[in-house]
Amino acid sequence: MNLDFNKDITDLNDKALEILNKYYGYSSFRAGQKQIIEEILKGNDAVAIMPTGGGKSICYQVPAMIVEGLTIVVSPLISLMKDQVDAIRDIGIESAYINSTLSSREIDEIFQLALSGNLKILYVAPERLETSQFLDLVSKVHVGFVAIDEAHCVSQWGHDFRTSYRFIKSFIGILKTRPIVAAFTATATNEVREDIIKLLGLREPKVFISGFDRENIKINVVKGINKKKYIVDFIKKNIDSAGIIYAATRKEVDSLYDQFNDKDISCTRYHAGLSDDERSKNQEDFVYDRYNVMIATNAFGMGIDKPNIRYVIHYNMPKNIEGYYQEIGRAGRDGEESEAILLFSPGDIHTQKYIIDIGTSNEARKANEYKKLQNMTDLVYSNDCYRKYILNYFGEQYDTHCNNCSNCEVEGELTNKTLDAQKVLSCVYRMKRSYGATVLIDTLRGSENKKIKDLGFHRLTTYGIMRDYSKDDLKNFINTLVSHRILSYDEGEYPVVRLNEKSMAVLRGEEEVWFKEIQKTSKIVEDNALFDILRNLRREIALEEKVPPYIVFGDATLKEISGRFPETMEQLSDISGVGELKLNKYGERFLDVVLEYVESNKIEVQFEYKKKEKSIKSNDEPTDLDEETSKKGKTAKEQKEGKKKSYMLTIEMLRENLSLLNIAKEREITISTVCSHLEQYALEGNQIDFSVDFSDILSKEQEIVILEVVKEVGADKLKPIKEKVDDTITYDHIKVALLKKRLAI
Ligand code: ADP
Repeated sequence: MNLDFNKDITDLNDKALEILNKYYGYSSFRAGQKQIIEEILKGNDAVAIMPTGGGKSICYQVPAMIVEGLTIVVSPLISLMKDQVDAIRDIGIESAYINSTLSSREIDEIFQLALSGNLKILYVAPERLETSQFLDLVSKVHVGFVAIDEAHCVSQWGHDFRTSYRFIKSFIGILKTRPIVAAFTATATNEVREDIIKLLGLREPKVFISGFDRENIKINVVKGINKKKYIVDFIKKNIDSAGIIYAATRKEVDSLYDQFNDKDISCTRYHAGLSDDERSKNQEDFVYDRYNVMIATNAFGMGIDKPNIRYVIHYNMPKNIEGYYQEIGRAGRDGEESEAILLFSPGDIHTQKYIIDIGTSNEARKANEYKKLQNMTDLVYSNDCYRKYILNYFGEQYDTHCNNCSNCEVEGELTNKTLDAQKVLSCVYRMKRSYGATVLIDTLRGSENKKIKDLGFHRLTTYGIMRDYSKDDLKNFINTLVSHRILSYDEGEYPVVRLNEKSMAVLRGEEEVWFKEIQKTSKIVEDNALFDILRNLRREIALEEKVPPYIVFGDATLKEISGRFPETMEQLSDISGVGELKLNKYGERFLDVVLEYVESNKIEVQFEYKKKEKSIKSNDEPTDLDEETSKKGKTAKEQKEGKKKSYMLTIEMLRENLSLLNIAKEREITISTVCSHLEQYALEGNQIDFSVDFSDILSKEQEIVILEVVKEVGADKLKPIKEKVDDTITYDHIKVALLKKRLAI
């Protein structure tokens, strides 16, 4: 009995890996994923605590494909649901979501799918579980597994409590047979974990806690700089990468947005003061890579699944470490190198205190928030490894140095700034009473300002002793002194600078002041011409398919292609993130681009296989793909010849009077590929001496409309044409019409 069970679970584990490989195109589970999936496949309840970007969705999507019956995924956010379903449908998993954006007819259709057994995963918001229509559905289908995403919403101690999460437990109780139940969250506190187990009615679940470290995110804290200049410089260096800039207030978001637009940086923005329409449009523009820079308050980000965010910049220090870590966690979900940059100035503490003050009337909560603000401030002032500080704060043991934060980094020359520090401090000392930074700067720079004269500061010995500093540089230097607590900064109605014990030690020459040279901005992703070309192709396909580019392929996949140069379909299938369906759908187009690049740059490629399992090989149906995979190991030239054969096959089918649509279906290639075959044939000087049947793709009326628009906007680019025609005309229609025009057929 025991043996059988072990054998069964081994089989199930193998099956899980096969699914991961075939559908997602990944070769192995990440740390944590395997154990959680195994536990669910054993039929046990489970709680999984994983950081943002840790890979929770695969932990329930893969078992959903194995467990018998329907899997219901409870998810709190409408936007997240749609994105997740889009992504898994695109890799061939039968799934759907139900939420308030759907019409009752659409919901009916989904119910029918579920009833006929043609649906594996159904995403719903918790409120839906309470409706009689939904209860009626689940009384008729077998629900084998319920996965609860963002499970901390059930706890009032979590940061986004949702009453309807409390209903999940009785919903599960209503089901005819009790399904396996697994809960997922990124919130790690004990109280929340206990609430999840109790309030969701989990049965003796194993709790899996993955490490909270996000190794691929470099943590930078930058002090004493001109923030705007720094950001502009950084964005210009990383113009092709997507990033979020968080600012503390709406006003600041708007002001940054205006200033960056003035500097020709294309960016979008998000905060609670914008209309619903504008917010969702701006969010979509960012997710679809139409704008790379998003400037936002912390209202932005929940439910954003975009995996290729390369940086998160905090224009102000956030008010607690929880929020900060959640926000920087939005960078690099795809596991690629990313950066978190916190731009600190002492005034940020003042801003956050003010925000807490006006936002919270409950005294106990206010005190708690002040405490958290103090922890955040301590993190910023810490001289030790920032990662260590954060992970320890979340209760995780971490004793090493990460070598991937600005405190660990050895780069940056240390320079002795004791003399300049003494000049500033002695000026403060001589001014007797406390003044603001502006008076101090004006005095040190020898300003002719009336106020300075009225105060008599032009007679101080320190008057004008720092003329060699520009106003901005001196301001930054004073901020840096404050950041290192060599000078105190008192907030209040009129913030002032003041000496402290450390200042006195420096003035007396007992302590020296050494600062690291101000960090320079740098480029996160190194240039690779092929990567850029692949990214353009991805954008083109995403536009045709009306999906965000990351759904086509992730950055990690493009990067791997641009470094390994796959030349055959089989080689391409060895790239992480290339699953079977995507290989079929997009493979040819990506290979074309790689082949052209390899040939024109005369690159010698020695391709080595990495993925252990190749589900493609076990496909016994003889398909077009098999023909391609048998070309394993051929050179670029031979492969081109193979391609030649491939396009000739299309021409032969056209000669046999098959329509474009039928050829695309029959060969499992896209309409665009069929068009490119036809065009290739003509480009090689062949006469199109056969008739081509376009009728099932493009009607005469559509063709006329498109050609009218072409007269107006030209035929160089598809987008301007698409923008002028109504939605029923797709990119495929436009391509076909242009092809007909070019070939005069
Ligand atoms: P979470 O929901 O925990 O924030 P996701 O499920 O969105 O994280 O996963 C984050 C990213 O990691 C996604 O782009 C996903 O495709 C990728 N990923 C997950 N598991 C693996 C794996 N085993 N191998 C490679 N990439 C993975």
